[in-house]
Amino acid sequence: MYDFKYQRASSQADAKEKFSTADDPRYLAGGMTLVPVLKQRLDNPSDIVDLSDLDDLKEITKEGDGIRVGAMCSHHNVNISELVIKEIPALAKLAGTIGDPMVRNRGTIGGSLANNDPAASYPSAVLGLNASITTDKRTINADDFFLGMFETALEEGELITSVLFPIPEIAGYQHFPNPASRYPIVGAFVAKTAGKVRVGITGAGPCAYRETQFEEAWADGSLDPQKIIDIKLPSDGLNSDIHASAEYRAHLVNVMARRAIS
Ligand SMILES: Cc1cc2nc3c(=O)[nH]c(=O)nc-3n(C[C@H](O)[C@H](O)[C@H](O)COP(=O)(O)OP(=O)(O)OC[C@H]3O[C@@H](n4cnc5c(N)ncnc54)[C@H](O)[C@@H]3O)c2cc1C
Repeated sequence: MYDFKYQRASSQADAKEKFSTADDPRYLAGGMTLVPVLKQRLDNPSDIVDLSDLDDLKEITKEGDGIRVGAMCSHHNVNISELVIKEIPALAKLAGTIGDPMVRNRGTIGGSLANNDPAASYPSAVLGLNASITTDKRTINADDFFLGMFETALEEGELITSVLFPIPEIAGYQHFPNPASRYPIVGAFVAKTAGKVRVGITGAGPCAYRETQFEEAWADGSLDPQKIIDIKLPSDGLNSDIHASAEYRAHLVNVMARRAIS
């Protein structure tokens, strides 16, 4: 690990101030990605601005027809939130499948979305539920947020403060986990909200995406697995590694989507 200056923010304004006055800073949430990156000397920031004390980013509240989840909510807190369990049980379930107990206790929804790992679980829910990401500057729609592998619409220093998830009529999540890390090799989040079906897929490609062929097949809102069972998705552009070939991932997208709705 290279040397850096550690700074602990006392408020959102303080975090922004500390970030904007440093040479080459990074925000620190739970450190589940950033700390290993620093330990391997893959990054060399001048300053670390720790968000741990920002309690206003750790709230989960009902807001109109949606649930707002603060950026510093750990996966564990989303998993056990009575509000999330009642209104969007598939989201609580997803949070409970992430990594292991240490990762779920330290890792945050804001850190996960800002990082945008191709296999991160939350992006599938953000896309499937048509959530919006609130930052200190603006609101970014799900469809505009994930730009590519580890790339998002966030600008330099832009702070995610919360995520607003519309409450669906029904939703389901299923993933096929890597047996070592528990990251999804493929994960599918299917949701019907106000009569419209959306399908968010993670793990399959370089970046989470919506599977529009399934959305079209379920355009009548029926969520009948037979309507997608014969859809053979192309494997072009999908990830291929020692865990699964692109062809196998394409197959898993269909299987996970059907398991999600079952
Ligand atoms: C062993 C292991 C298994 C895992 N398994 C899974 C899994 O199955 N599914 C899954 O989805 N994830 C998995 N993860 C990732 C984990 O869930 C974390 O969400 C992810 O690593 C981000 O961690 P963090 O929230 O601690 O953010 P950090 O590591 O602190 O930060 C990550 C990045 O986000 C930036 N950042 C953090 N917060 C904000 C914010 N509010 N606004 C703007 N930028 C911000 C930081 O500057 C940094 O660049 C796993 C991680 C490990 C180590």
